[in-house]
Amino acid sequence: AKESLAGGVSSSARLTSTGPDPYPLYLVGGSGARVRDVDGNTYVDYLAGYGSAVLGHADRQLAEALGAVLAAGTMFGTCNTVEVELAELIREMVPCAELVRFANSGSEAVQGAVRAARGYTGRSKVLKFEGHYHGWSDTLAVSNRPDVAEAGPYGAPRSVPHSAGIPAGVVGDVVVCPWNDPGALRAVLDAHRGELAAVVCEPIVANNACTMPAPGYLALLREECTARGIVLVFDEVCTGFRTGPGGAQALFGVVPDLAVYAKALGGGLPIAAFAGRREVMEPVAEGRVKHGGTYNASPLSATASLVTLRRLNRPDTVKHIEESGRRIMEAVRRAARDRGVPCAVQGVGAMFQVVFTADGEPTRHYRDLLRSDQARHHAFRHELLRRGIHVNAYGMACWFVSAAVTEDDLDETCEAVEGAFRT
Ligand code: PMP
Repeated sequence: AKESLAGGVSSSARLTSTGPDPYPLYLVGGSGARVRDVDGNTYVDYLAGYGSAVLGHADRQLAEALGAVLAAGTMFGTCNTVEVELAELIREMVPCAELVRFANSGSEAVQGAVRAARGYTGRSKVLKFEGHYHGWSDTLAVSNRPDVAEAGPYGAPRSVPHSAGIPAGVVGDVVVCPWNDPGALRAVLDAHRGELAAVVCEPIVANNACTMPAPGYLALLREECTARGIVLVFDEVCTGFRTGPGGAQALFGVVPDLAVYAKALGGGLPIAAFAGRREVMEPVAEGRVKHGGTYNASPLSATASLVTLRRLNRPDTVKHIEESGRRIMEAVRRAARDRGVPCAVQGVGAMFQVVFTADGEPTRHYRDLLRSDQARHHAFRHELLRRGIHVNAYGMACWFVSAAVTEDDLDETCEAVEGAFRT
């Protein structure tokens, strides 16, 4: 496949930031931070199952634990003790988590959080931000249009789902607001006074090239939501556990009412959760707000989660992930500086992105990403792939670093980065 990649260059004219991956890898196996394709080529992997394989591939401890569950029976449909242990651990790790409920995917868990917020407040509208992604639910798969006016009137937003293909009219109830813009936030909150159940955001916008929150912005969200009786939801599907045991809320010292988890939560198996303040979660716990699902916290997924979170709860694991990522970020910055290429390397060690902005300044808004050089990003990604480094195909996504990455992996990665900037 590495050889055939050269042939694929001719298709680069067709590359767009949201198009299909022009160089799809058919992966058949992996070990540690490396993956292997059908042709036997290996790559150091920073896609990591879209961030879910946080311990790396074929982790021995995980494989043994899952093997034991498979042997003992995977599905009973009643409460299981692993689920309870897992919920207790999440409560211990996550600042906002007084009560926890499980689901199978991030999309479902976001939907659960929104439903909890609606049940608690008795309101229906939800505010989301441009460029933030919350899964495939009809409610929140709403566009990233760069202008707040594009959000359109209540009930008939003009801001259509940019990739879900759902007619705008079905979206309903969702208000879209620019990110990192206090003035726009207050204007939108005022315009929908008394109507908003929830404000939902990605605290680090993984789906907007790891755009960081402007200083004080998350605190402002907290303040405004508290003052207006709106439920603040952090979608920590990407940041959760990966950026530290307490995720983004611990990192930034801002505690939301609810938080949503998936990806790293399951170490590669399908499990998700929403968790938060007792008062907001209680209607769900009591069944007044419905939430259920056949596979929620199945013994297999819950066991994968327990093994993964116990590891991520250790300071040495988090430190290794963070420092490894920082080393790559620094290598990119150095190579870009040496070659005089303007680019921003943004995010944190555990998840970051390289964005070719014209002035090298980090993105703050979705429109900054739209203006960045996507063709250059694709060329960069392609050069990395040719050198055995696998990163997400899309400029709006990010690199995910796994706990399994070794010194050799990092040396090879930094060398490839240097080489990619040389060409
Ligand atoms: N929220 C965020 C922040 C995500 O990144 C994703 C998936 N990329 C989702 C929600 C949806 O999760 P899932 O794909 O598990 O449904």
